[in-house]
Amino acid sequence: MPEDTDRLRALFDAVATDGFTSAEAIHNCISECGLSIDDHRLRTMRTRLQAQQQRPIDQEAFTDIVRDELLTVSRIVRRQLVVPDWPEFCQAIRRIYDEVAPDRSGANANYIPILRDADPEKWGVALCSVDGQRFCLGDVDVYHSIQSVSKPLTYAYALSKEGEEFTHAHVGMEPSGRPFNDLSLLPDLRPFNPCVNAGAIMIAGIVASGSPDRSAREVTQDIMDLWTALCGGVGEVRFSEETMLSERATAHNNFAIAYLLQGRKGLPRNVDLHKTLDIYLSCCSIEMTASMLSVAAATLANGGVCPVTGVQVLPTELVKRTLAVMQFAGMYDNAGAFTFSVGLPAKSGVAGAVMAVVPNLMGFATFSPRLDAYGNSVRGVAFCRQLVDRFTFHVYDSLSGGRTGCKQDPRESQRNRKHRDLSDLRWALSYGDRYASKVRDLALTSMIDICLGDGDIEDSELAVIASTLEDIVGSPIEVSELESLARNRQAQALASAIPPFEGLVARLAQEQVHLDDNARELILESAFRVACADGEVEPQEHERLLKIAEALAIHAGVLQLEIDRFQRKLAKR
Ligand code: GLN
Repeated sequence: MPEDTDRLRALFDAVATDGFTSAEAIHNCISECGLSIDDHRLRTMRTRLQAQQQRPIDQEAFTDIVRDELLTVSRIVRRQLVVPDWPEFCQAIRRIYDEVAPDRSGANANYIPILRDADPEKWGVALCSVDGQRFCLGDVDVYHSIQSVSKPLTYAYALSKEGEEFTHAHVGMEPSGRPFNDLSLLPDLRPFNPCVNAGAIMIAGIVASGSPDRSAREVTQDIMDLWTALCGGVGEVRFSEETMLSERATAHNNFAIAYLLQGRKGLPRNVDLHKTLDIYLSCCSIEMTASMLSVAAATLANGGVCPVTGVQVLPTELVKRTLAVMQFAGMYDNAGAFTFSVGLPAKSGVAGAVMAVVPNLMGFATFSPRLDAYGNSVRGVAFCRQLVDRFTFHVYDSLSGGRTGCKQDPRESQRNRKHRDLSDLRWALSYGDRYASKVRDLALTSMIDICLGDGDIEDSELAVIASTLEDIVGSPIEVSELESLARNRQAQALASAIPPFEGLVARLAQEQVHLDDNARELILESAFRVACADGEVEPQEHERLLKIAEALAIHAGVLQLEIDRFQRKLAKR
């Protein structure tokens, strides 16, 4: 079919120059969107590419190479993965990583030497999307004990082995509002939930009681195997004997909890208390890296299917339960405030890990050993907050009804969104729509005022304004009309005490509440284009841009991203 041939040709053209591509160009295209050539969906292609070695690849050879994995290749080349603009998204992550890095508040956990002596400067962030796109920054390959991060998975394991009814006959599903190692129980004598120590010890008891013939070590190995599957075999799940020995030597409080549980309602099926505690403490002593934990989190985000292997590791129903528990209890007695501001299911551990899940989109993990008063990693929590400040990840960001307060949604390609909105706006404008006219007017005035930042407006600047207006607002303007508008504004600037730019800023601030995100971005983008037209953004232009962005309630970080994007684009030309 001709249409099919066209599509194939378009795919090839996207990676080719002068009729040829190379293994390197194809690899680059794959890694740019965050995937690896080792991806399970590209296995055949990888082998075929290897056979190709250094040879140039023409369209026929290309078709042969990608034939069996066309769908994935097409999604990669056409930027249709769940986060289409991966490099831009990663750039924003890098900025947040850098902003959080200087925070040295908090302190390492000090109840055992291995945690007390860990390098507090370590700082790593790792992400994995539900399409397997990965990005890592800093100390993401440092092994550390996962501690309480183990709790949701041991809970999921218990659910899978013993079912919901049996499990929750022994453990509640209520936030405790108390420190993680607290000895209090629900009025019916069950621990509050699987994420406080009492609940996790009870979960360990449930698991132990279900495997009477297996040792604590063997049961722990089963749980480690589950972690391995969850992180798609990325890295090796290890066990720290040293952590386990120290944990056991200092576990007075955990022993107190276990005896309390045994004395009140009893451990399930009269299971041995020491075996129970050994499983609990062993799970705390499992060692992983942030990079691995991010893939595990992505598997949870993906309903239990590991994005890196495509294997269904846990049933989706069970993942739902696990995420719900993480949401209300994952961040200890700060879980309420965390849900309030971040709104994501997450779990922290006292070694400094935080693992968080953006359902249907991605998982991420951070590692930084200094903890706050609740026992959560200071930088980890700060990272989550900033991430949700910038992106529509809070569970209730979906309520925004199209207005996201200039938060970005990385699920949507910038290009697609702009294109769609611009064509709507153009269409409405051609019918004289009031809203569209207002947007046009604000964009036009902003552009003129950017040029007037240095007091004067050149003919070349007028030409840029005209073409930008036509190009992005879709509305042509006569140069003579533009000229008289600009001269008028210049005269006003000379005549009045309050500069007209201040008036514009005030008007933008007033109007912005009635404009949707895209209209506001469009106004700012018009101003950028004009500011960038001569190849760089002058200081007074930069200052005016910042004021316009602020008046439009657009985050300064978003503005900086736009500036970078424009500068990159200009550099390419
Ligand atoms: N090993 C620690 C304990 O049981 C784990 C607690 C945690 O990470 N919050 O006290």
